[in-house]
Amino acid sequence: MSKNTPKAIRGTQDIFGADAEAFAFVVETFERVRKLYRFRRAEFPVFEKTEVFARSLGETTDVVSKEMYSFEDRGGDSLTLRPEFTAGIARAFLTNGWQQFAPLKVATHGPLFRYERPQKGRYRQFHQIDAEIIGAADPQADVELLAMADQLLKELGITDVTLHLNTLGDAESRDAWRAGLVDYFRAVAGQLSEDSQERLEKNPLRILDSKDRRDQQFLADAPKIDQFLSDDARAFFQTVTEGLDAAGVKWVRAENLVRGLDYYRHTAFEFIPDEGSASADALGSQSTVLGGGRYDGLMESLGGAATPAVGWAAGIERLAMLVGEREPPQLEAIVLVEHDDGLAIGNELLANLRAGGIVSDIVASGSAKKRYDKAAKQQPRHILRVNETGYYELSGEGSAERIEAAIARNNR
Ligand code: ATP
Ligand code: MG
Repeated sequence: MSKNTPKAIRGTQDIFGADAEAFAFVVETFERVRKLYRFRRAEFPVFEKTEVFARSLGETTDVVSKEMYSFEDRGGDSLTLRPEFTAGIARAFLTNGWQQFAPLKVATHGPLFRYERPQKGRYRQFHQIDAEIIGAADPQADVELLAMADQLLKELGITDVTLHLNTLGDAESRDAWRAGLVDYFRAVAGQLSEDSQERLEKNPLRILDSKDRRDQQFLADAPKIDQFLSDDARAFFQTVTEGLDAAGVKWVRAENLVRGLDYYRHTAFEFIPDEGSASADALGSQSTVLGGGRYDGLMESLGGAATPAVGWAAGIERLAMLVGEREPPQLEAIVLVEHDDGLAIGNELLANLRAGGIVSDIVASGSAKKRYDKAAKQQPRHILRVNETGYYELSGEGSAERIEAAIARNNR
């Protein structure tokens, strides 16, 4: 690399090799599982008008106030690279009139952008898988969404991560809780972090989310949502937990879990590595792998009709760090063209193998002597040697039935 070769942008990654295999495994597994749960696949723009995020997430949230990549385009509009999926999906739901599909189960994945301090598991461009159920007020939707997350993690082989679950109640309960928290924290305001002193006025719930030691000493004794829950909100939460128990989804109650965005109501959750587990070791302090909740108020903040919805997102990079080394698929066959005159036959065989679903490759260049070594070095299960007359011979360990069938089927 010469001195004037441009460097990658801080906080971005070029993903290759084992990491890229793990990344692909996460996405492929997500695609398989979302089909089992009948989520429809959708694609969304990587950028939106800035107000889509500012109005949905709330001006005082960390994401909006500190982390967005916003810029003015040549037409003078303020645009933002999406820092999360939900706001853009809500915008799409409203502008496309997708009410007709409600309840809409939708799944997507792709890159997101946040101006954060890069560290292990935290990047400025990262990727998420995302699942949402829009237009469903029923707690059954929360259960289904969480069961899907749980199954996904199991199918990824991640078994040392647990669902931490809370309810934020309905608007009435949440307001009462908020008032209780303000009273409690105001009494110790002088000892809180600067951030939390500010939160006290704007969004006291978020103090519960603080990672600052000065705040954390007060969290254990802070008023809990349960004291303030309305009967409806309590019943809703109970239906969710009963559904999870019936579906075999393990969960723990996390009374201080609030999530960082303004739009959440009722169910809020995060999947977090168990203390001392291999996943906790792998992720260090960046511990949440999947998070979400119910956002019944979001559509209204974008000018739409009240539309209940629930969703989650998970960081693909963080999941990929937990699935361990993934190897590319085993090479089943190499077509070894021993002499240039056999090349046409070799290419025909190779096409037949691949059409038959056999992971295969070809060696057809270099000195005749070296070709065999080149093929053997890749450790295929079988080698198909093609000589100059076009005659070919199959060798290798174990059954070659699949390979012979592929050739025969395509030779007809
Ligand atoms: P954190 O508390 O770690 O900042 P968050 O609450 O900001 O997380 P969400 O907005 O809920 O995260 O995003 C859901 C998931 O996306 C996270 O649990 C994590 O796996 C992933 N994620 C969030 N921000 C980043 C980032 N900067 N780099 C990599 N992954 C991220
Ligand atoms: Mg964050």
